[in-house]
Amino acid sequence: MPIALSNYWDGAWHPGAGESIERRAPARSDTVVASGAGVSSAQLDAAVGAAAHAFDAWRRLGIERRCAILRAAAGILSVRAEALGRELSHEQGKVLAEGVAEVRRAAAIFDYFGHQSKAPVAEEYAGPTSQQRLVVSHHPVGTIGVVTPWNFPIAIPAWKLAPALAYGNTVVWKPASHVPLLAFRLMEALEEAGLPPGVLSLTMGPGSIGQRIVESSQVDAVTFTGSTEVGRHLVETCGRRMKPIQAELGGKNVAVVAEDADLDQALEAILVGAFSGNGQKCTATSRVIVDERVADTFGRMLRERACALTVGDPLDPSTEVGPVVSSPDQVRIQAVIDAADGAVTVSAGDRRPGNGWFVNPTVVDLERPKGAFWTEEIFGPVVALVRANDYAEALRLADDTPFGLAAGVYTRSLDRVHQATEELKVGMLTINGPTTGSEPHVPFGGWKQSGFGPREQGSEARAFFTKSRTTAINAGTSR
Ligand code: NAP
Ligand code: MG
Repeated sequence: MPIALSNYWDGAWHPGAGESIERRAPARSDTVVASGAGVSSAQLDAAVGAAAHAFDAWRRLGIERRCAILRAAAGILSVRAEALGRELSHEQGKVLAEGVAEVRRAAAIFDYFGHQSKAPVAEEYAGPTSQQRLVVSHHPVGTIGVVTPWNFPIAIPAWKLAPALAYGNTVVWKPASHVPLLAFRLMEALEEAGLPPGVLSLTMGPGSIGQRIVESSQVDAVTFTGSTEVGRHLVETCGRRMKPIQAELGGKNVAVVAEDADLDQALEAILVGAFSGNGQKCTATSRVIVDERVADTFGRMLRERACALTVGDPLDPSTEVGPVVSSPDQVRIQAVIDAADGAVTVSAGDRRPGNGWFVNPTVVDLERPKGAFWTEEIFGPVVALVRANDYAEALRLADDTPFGLAAGVYTRSLDRVHQATEELKVGMLTINGPTTGSEPHVPFGGWKQSGFGPREQGSEARAFFTKSRTTAINAGTSR
């Protein structure tokens, strides 16, 4: 039986009066996972109004009591990690182990921000005279519009909602249309954790609902993760309104394999980087640049292992690569593969249920940079291989993209590590490990067209979710 979806605002569940929603399982397109309806424009306005109205009481509650609710949510998500991970895998298509791990990650994020009540809340500086102290304090922004993508249905919402709420903001959240069930589950967990009425509104619906949130005069700031195309449009929309926006966008992430790399170690890291999440992570490895002295050997190793990956039902524990998120995405990705020269696309372990949206893990040997495989974010289980004459050329090619999210460098040379850290224009750099991955206590985000505004998570989350005030305190008597 499909799960019946609902929207949430003002402390109550509301059946939607807007567009109908029906999510099918990517591995079994005849199975409906969840159905319901998104909000109408009038319902959205009520949900925004409820969040705006709740702001003053929520900010005055104090950070310790807000954080206690987030810690309770972390506990609920931990207990439910297996069950929610299974639903995530069924709804989104990533393999079961990754679905469960993502729910645990969401719990860890709520736990991390649930402890921010113990972090310093202000900084003090000396004034120009001994009579004056300067105190920099941090205050909630107001009501935040949150718009999230489908590729991490619970972790990305967690890393926006948790800091927004901890620092005293209220939220209106529109999840991606492909993953309504996990949004519904996260809202349930937060309600059970004791979130007061109005503090969080969950409003499902198409992009136009996200657009209406962003444009609302009652929404004070926007945090968005998704494509560069939509992100650019929202940055322009917010710019006209002088509304702060944080946008985490697309990538064309690179792995650089130096001549001295441990090729076995690089291979394992690149397989995870390219094919985990079925290749649909913003940090997925999509270009591999190999020093030509080891390129034939490494190319052979990568093709062999990619072709041996087991493609199938994500709920089957033996599956290594599941389906992509939708039928149009399957058609789009397959068309790019079919148009490429030198694509090796074979799947040795094929265990597909039959009517899912599958794409074979694919390695394309481009030899030199060219075409869509080099320039476009394909967002599927595909990776392009290119040869470089030497390490310096490899680093130059790595930056040959308007994106700047993630890079991996594979080398045993300290000198090459130094060069990479100096030269690569990316927000996330991994030495001898997968390009994918993040931790809640350190910043996450991209340079160039991969990100706009302050980074997410860690010490930088507060920069976006609060406004600072400098207070000059002078002694009350002249001494
Ligand atoms: P998307 O198409 O840009 O959609 C993202 C969200 O924006 C969805 O909730 C979408 O709603 C909504 N939306 C669409 N049009 C809108 C509009 N005009 N106004 C307001 N909201 C609108 O991205 P996606 O396909 O979900 O996700 C894949 C992309 O996200 C990739 O490019 C990937 O690289 C990027 N990503 C980046 C990061 C990062 O941290 N840098 C992390 C994850 C993903 P609907 O779902 O209803 O269309
Ligand atoms: Mg999209």
